[in-house]
Amino acid sequence: MHEQDQQNQRDRQHRQDGRPGENTRAVRLPTGPPPAERPLRTPVYRTTTFEFATSRDYADVLAGTVPGYSYSRIDNPTSDAFARAAAAMEAGGREVRGEAFSSGMGAISSVLLGLTMAGSHVVASHSIYGNTYSLLDGLLRRFGVAVDFVDITDLAAVAAAVRPETAVVFTETLSNPTMTVSDLPALARIAHDAGAALVVDSTFASPAVCRPLEHGADIVVHSATKYIGGHSDATGGVAVGTPEVMARVRSARVDLGPCLAPDEAFLLHRGLETLPLRMARQCATAAEFAAAVAAHPAVESVAHPSLPGHPGHALAARLFDAGRFGAVVTVTPRGGREAGMALADGVRTAMVAASLGGTHTLVGHVGSTTHRQMSDEALEKAGIGPGAVRFSIGLEDARDLIGDALAALDRCGAGQAAR
Ligand SMILES: *Cc1c(COP(=O)(O)O)cnc(C)c1O
Repeated sequence: MHEQDQQNQRDRQHRQDGRPGENTRAVRLPTGPPPAERPLRTPVYRTTTFEFATSRDYADVLAGTVPGYSYSRIDNPTSDAFARAAAAMEAGGREVRGEAFSSGMGAISSVLLGLTMAGSHVVASHSIYGNTYSLLDGLLRRFGVAVDFVDITDLAAVAAAVRPETAVVFTETLSNPTMTVSDLPALARIAHDAGAALVVDSTFASPAVCRPLEHGADIVVHSATKYIGGHSDATGGVAVGTPEVMARVRSARVDLGPCLAPDEAFLLHRGLETLPLRMARQCATAAEFAAAVAAHPAVESVAHPSLPGHPGHALAARLFDAGRFGAVVTVTPRGGREAGMALADGVRTAMVAASLGGTHTLVGHVGSTTHRQMSDEALEKAGIGPGAVRFSIGLEDARDLIGDALAALDRCGAGQAAR
């Protein structure tokens, strides 16, 4: 048979009527051209991969010699838009880069694994988020990273703990649940003198209260799940820092895989727009709430940096935006665990739930939830009463939250008196 005839026969076998089959057509249905007008919002690019005009273009983008998108674990336009927006909020006039993550822990683990290696040393505050603690104390130690936990407010102790192998000094702007304030400029000096990076988890503050990069930190990390998202409907994280350190964080993120999904990125990006408004309101309500509740006779102590008696008050006034001291208030009623549980259950405007930073006020008894691994003695040593109750103040009216808390405290107090 003539060669051309053979070819035609093969074509007829594979394409009965000379045009693509229905499934080929189905997966190649036409789409409209991209709009000429720029969308007001970065759309949700729900795609895992991107098409190139040529193999050369594909190779150039993968090699990083030409900017572009190839695969969404590496970069996705919606997730990038969120990372850029968060970086702009934290920048403090410095040249910075942001990376977005699937969770706060995704951000923290990528930062710590990116900046350390076997033989490195980390100095960390002993009052940090539980999973950050176990990451440092467990996984990182297993990989040969030495860790010292210190009282981060004791600057002499921090200075004594750093050594030539120290790669990271790690703290939180405001720590849970005591609302301890870190002296970021002093910690940055100690870290930099030792050749280490200062990494700050600023989840409890948010960039609408304090921007650690302005105070000398090299990297700021957030659980964007909290104030940045702000509506308790999306889990994510972000890290922002100087380009040199962030290159190592980015490479850890791409290798480890905790990339932020585009749907979540869209929600978190939207959250940033109202972050200053929400924080201004939530911080003001928290300060009013703290002062009102502190005056109740059934209360042993209230932890909020707006109160002049709080150990971090002066530092917060210096480092934080005017009038904003965070929106978490920890109230310790007299009467131990039982009184604490009764208070948490007694406040009707607040919901008993994990997490913080959303529009709803959430409440939780510290000793049986976030700090459940600690004995009463260990809690007391950490400055946490066994009855401590954490309030994450939301957007409800202050008078409702205060009236409710005072009524619940009246009942706690009455219970005490009856005993
Ligand atoms: C919630 C939280 C984290 C962890 O964030 P996820 O988004 O839950 O992974 C880390 N640090 C602090 C201070 C937090 O409150």
